Amino acid sequence: MSVVRQAIPVARPVLDRREAEAAGRAVLSGWVTQGPEVQAFERSFASAVGAPHACAVSNCTVALHLALRAAGVSPGDEVITVSHSFIASANAIRYCGAIPVFVDIGEGTFNIDASRVEGAIGPRTRAILAVHQLGMPCDLAKLVAIARRRYLPLIEDAACAAGSEVMWEGRWESIGRPHGDVACFSFHPRKVITTGDGGMITTRHEDWDRQFRLWRQHGMSISDAVRHQSPEVAFEEYPTIGYNYRMTDIQAAVGREQLERLPEIIERRRVLADRYRERIVVRVPQVSLPVEPAWARSNWQSFCVRLPQNVDQRAVMQTMLDRGVSTRRGVMCAHQETAYAKEPWHCEKRGPVSCMCGPRRCRALANSERATREGLILPLFPQMTDVDQDEVIDALAAAIGLCAV
Ligand SMILES: *Cc1c(COP(=O)(O)O)cnc(C)c1O
Repeated sequence: MSVVRQAIPVARPVLDRREAEAAGRAVLSGWVTQGPEVQAFERSFASAVGAPHACAVSNCTVALHLALRAAGVSPGDEVITVSHSFIASANAIRYCGAIPVFVDIGEGTFNIDASRVEGAIGPRTRAILAVHQLGMPCDLAKLVAIARRRYLPLIEDAACAAGSEVMWEGRWESIGRPHGDVACFSFHPRKVITTGDGGMITTRHEDWDRQFRLWRQHGMSISDAVRHQSPEVAFEEYPTIGYNYRMTDIQAAVGREQLERLPEIIERRRVLADRYRERIVVRVPQVSLPVEPAWARSNWQSFCVRLPQNVDQRAVMQTMLDRGVSTRRGVMCAHQETAYAKEPWHCEKRGPVSCMCGPRRCRALANSERATREGLILPLFPQMTDVDQDEVIDALAAAIGLCAV
């Protein structure tokens, strides 16, 4: 029997006995959802990012849904965002019956071009949904200024950005502080810390936080925890329709352990990202490296390079996989997916019927489409060794050489 060596994965969560024991502790406590572990996780997350309020939910997609609802986004409204994101960003806008208005990303970055946002604002614009793509902070200072000037709520899709930082009034501050109105995080295993699935909403508004807590639990006026502790019989009420967007205590217990590891995880990711940059620039100069602006410190949730135009992305990925290195294509564009051939959306030009200039093409989103086509996410995870990383770089160099068209 031949031994097939496992490919180097693109990502791997940092989980061991600590998380297993934490999950066990929650199970044995007899309280397994929306209880003391969730409360403790919320408190430590809020203090880790410097937010006044943090509300745990079942994933980041529902966090975005609730954030948009709290911002007042209703059917027929428009929300400015990027197409170049995981599809959940646009989908959450559609959950509210609103229409995404896709603004292009900056040339050479994977984040929204803040200078194009103001031109996309129209009479029906209700909010701005800015994404910190791949953990790299977008230009919050510019976006917050536009949002304030135009009286629009700013929602941060910080799904990938736990532990990322921005320079804010001369100081490094965590994403989630919140600089806009509300920030939404994901704890899916592809992100830097995980609870299996899970999400967190941080906000500066106490009334929004209260609303999130109602909505995540069916709109129930009294939480289970309060009722459980009450010496008197208490009947709950349902003033509004809510959802079941709860996080379990088993997840939260794992999350508390993960949060303790976060600084160490990010330190290691930054070392590996620096090492990639130093070596790729020498070994594979045809590839463009991700750009970290002077005012941003990425958590390097993903390390996405850009392939030169004369190589085929799929062929490069296959060649690398054949050599035992997993990669992923660059971030998708929602407007190029079949779902958004059926759903309404606009680009900043607001075409009369459809913004599509051709099949899966929108001229106003040229940078986004190009980033999807040229992007290549390389393996990056804390357990990765220098030897693993050198293998990735060797495979990349070989694939670029072989796949020129
Ligand atoms: C992962 C991700 C989401 C969705 O997070 P879930 O927790 O899986 O719902 C949303 N937006 C972006 C940018 C993401 O990367």
